[in-house]
Amino acid sequence: MRDIPETLRHWFVQNRRSFPWRDSPSPYQVWISEVMLQQTQASRVIAYYERWMERFPSLEHLAQATLEEVFKVWEGLGYYSRAKSLHAASKDLCSRFQGKLPSSREELLSIKGLGPYTASAIAAFAFHQKAAAVDANVLRVLTRLFEIRDDIGKIATQKNVREIAEKILPDKEPWVISEALIELGACICKQKPNCAHCPLQASCKSFKNGSEQEIPFKARRTQYEALFREVAVIMCGTSVLVRQGKKGQPCAGLFEFPYFETVPSGLLPDVVEKRIAQDLTLTASFQQYLEEQFHSFTRFRVTLYPKLFEVATNKPVPGCSWYPLDKVDQLTFSSGHRRVLRSLLEV
Ligand code: SF4
Repeated sequence: MRDIPETLRHWFVQNRRSFPWRDSPSPYQVWISEVMLQQTQASRVIAYYERWMERFPSLEHLAQATLEEVFKVWEGLGYYSRAKSLHAASKDLCSRFQGKLPSSREELLSIKGLGPYTASAIAAFAFHQKAAAVDANVLRVLTRLFEIRDDIGKIATQKNVREIAEKILPDKEPWVISEALIELGACICKQKPNCAHCPLQASCKSFKNGSEQEIPFKARRTQYEALFREVAVIMCGTSVLVRQGKKGQPCAGLFEFPYFETVPSGLLPDVVEKRIAQDLTLTASFQQYLEEQFHSFTRFRVTLYPKLFEVATNKPVPGCSWYPLDKVDQLTFSSGHRRVLRSLLEV
């Protein structure tokens, strides 16, 4: 274990990728980048990060923005609850910490929506403290390195790995090793590990025993549920009918086209016309099929069956609004309905 930090440091200095959030970032920049990097590849995050920093260059800018504006800049990254938490936390930071991120892990953990990993990452990368930031990459590297076969979905396993990570961190520049572990997981010890180019090969128990493909182990728990939805894209001249996801729903606050739950094969257009008449009190006539779309959220896998309809008059529909088609692109849609919109704009 003693050689690991030095080997990692040497490898990292020579191989570290350059990202806009990496060189002398402010605590705010570290925070935003770390949240964006959760479940998204770093190369994909760059454009979102730059756009965010242009629109919300400081914590105060973020706290003063509306949730709608925040969603708009976040659009495309998915997991909108993260954007919502960032926004709520920025308000909390402004009211309790004068708009500055605190440096202690305990205080960071007291901030609404800021979890253990992000707190450690901020403590390590923004304040250069000895804090082990154990994300999925580090979890993968360390379970393989020490051939830990326990279920990584269990808190006890995660705690064990965090303790190992803390032991690896040296007193001198611990944040470099913290980041190097993340980088090794992202570039070399990936899902399919590239052991031939790994600087830790000589110390790796899984490599020695040929078990690297079996680790990390995660017990299967999630039962996915399939949903099928008829999406009614209703036009009246150059306006289209949209609504916002209701409070408490996974897509709360995001725009979408009216939809109905349906059967796996979808419904015939005349059946959807009847549902439109019943639910939206509109007399709509079917125009054409739009491309089927798929998307997932939490434990759901959703198939969308969008169809285009036309109505003669844009009478008000409770909970919905008519929006000019050439401006509708400015609204923040949930990811599946954003794809429906794209196919509508191509018609
Ligand atoms: Fe991962 Fe292979 Fe390196 Fe072990 S030798 S840490 S399994 S890449």
